[in-house]
Amino acid sequence: MVLKIDRLPIELPIPTNPSANDAAAVQELLGGKFGEMSTLMNYTYQSFNFRGRKKLRPFYDLICSIAGEEYGHIEVVSYTINLLLTGVSKRGIDPTIAPLADGVNARNTYHFLNSGQTALPMDSMGKFWSGENVFSSGNLKLDLLHNFFLECGARAGKMRTYEMVSDPTAREMVGYLLVRGGLHVVAYAKALEVLTGVEVTKLLPIPDLSNDKFPEAKKFMNNKMHLKLYTFSEDDYTQVGQIWNGNHPEDGQPLEVIQGTIPGHAPPDLEEEPQLNAPGSDDYAYDPQMFADMAKKMGIKP
Ligand code: MN
Ligand code: MN
Repeated sequence: MVLKIDRLPIELPIPTNPSANDAAAVQELLGGKFGEMSTLMNYTYQSFNFRGRKKLRPFYDLICSIAGEEYGHIEVVSYTINLLLTGVSKRGIDPTIAPLADGVNARNTYHFLNSGQTALPMDSMGKFWSGENVFSSGNLKLDLLHNFFLECGARAGKMRTYEMVSDPTAREMVGYLLVRGGLHVVAYAKALEVLTGVEVTKLLPIPDLSNDKFPEAKKFMNNKMHLKLYTFSEDDYTQVGQIWNGNHPEDGQPLEVIQGTIPGHAPPDLEEEPQLNAPGSDDYAYDPQMFADMAKKMGIKP
């Protein structure tokens, strides 16, 4: 089961230059082949499907812990897209002035036609994410090898998105995900080492450029976020430390397991876009007294 927390792993700045085309590029990190939908769903299904976990418990605990983290990654990428799309069309309720006209020239018209100028599970070319991106062979060595490759591919996508999009909201998010995805690369490399004895960490970094070349990533590394593996569970997945231990292969600092979650920050409150009727419901007025009266009638104690 999943316990939901209404927080994002990082504090996202408001974009200095909202841009529908930047948002379209960032979609690759959400619904691309190597995006967060793929990492989330790969590890989630591999955890459900894990056979023989009594014998291989630390590997199960590792995949479950990382699956838990990926949920927060789809959230933080989605919020980045949402912030980049906030205010990119003309605000107002008069349809005759064609308030969505700029959407015609945007790379992705779904953001205007099928959502409230918000994220959808698709890639940077508007192709929707598919379950075909999930690899869950049932063979632990093969699945770990796939996960290592998936995280390296995801890392390449993040680096290139950073090079395409200079907005600080996008770069803060990409910097954070480079660090956390970099940790996942090392985690799957170490898991393969424990399982097979092959020194997979010698291949790192893939691609060659180190995370500390990205100032936003460097900031998170200074806070040791490249060293801390979180279980995203109060009491479970306690054997993950049998894999996540020793020193980081790039800077030699000690690795650490943290039982629980990243403390996080409140998600940004997304402004209304009346020209899309998002959210609409203009006649609705929040009335705390009405809710209190209803609760009283139903016998619910305050
Ligand atoms: Mn991720
Ligand atoms: Mn990851």
